[in-house]
Amino acid sequence: MEPFPVQVVRYPHPTLRHLSKPLKRVDTELRKTISEMLEVMYVEDGVGLAANQVDLPYRLCVINTTGDPQCKEMEYVFINPVITRRQGTAEAEEGCLSLPGIHGHVRRAEKVVVSAYNLKGEEMHLQLDGLFARAIQHECDHLEGVLFVDRLSDPGKLAVRDKMEELERALTDERRRGVVPDDQQVAQRLAELESLRT
Ligand code: ZN
Repeated sequence: MEPFPVQVVRYPHPTLRHLSKPLKRVDTELRKTISEMLEVMYVEDGVGLAANQVDLPYRLCVINTTGDPQCKEMEYVFINPVITRRQGTAEAEEGCLSLPGIHGHVRRAEKVVVSAYNLKGEEMHLQLDGLFARAIQHECDHLEGVLFVDRLSDPGKLAVRDKMEELERALTDERRRGVVPDDQQVAQRLAELESLRT
């Protein structure tokens, strides 16, 4: 199988802590990247993916709560999403493609209103609940550099600590082997990409 042009970065990759910048333009190259993000999300059995999970500094995410690539009517691209209203609370288990093998219960708003642009440049205002509301809150957190594990209770954090340390060791090892660039190189690349479109 051909390697994917975009790859999901894993905790504790520094881009996951990067504060995403609003997009000023969406060009052909970025459209291609967005379709690759959707492809990777489906292949890895995710229901959402934020741009910084594929090492991009943009305020952008994709969601399909069915996880089914055939279900196009549930496939959403959110450009510059902003959650404008939150209502109620709900707790449920979450996972993340950037934290493989880690799950935990996260308390979030039960219903949200989100404003964003779609790929056609049209403004969307969506009222969401259930898994879709949870997914957009999880993805918007990513864009702020926040991971779902940051929102776990203290016992919840303790329960995932070993697995997180395993991921930390894996990244250290990948950097030693030169597979993942160092912090300075990552920051420089993000700055170049920001100057291009934000
Ligand atoms: Zn995630």
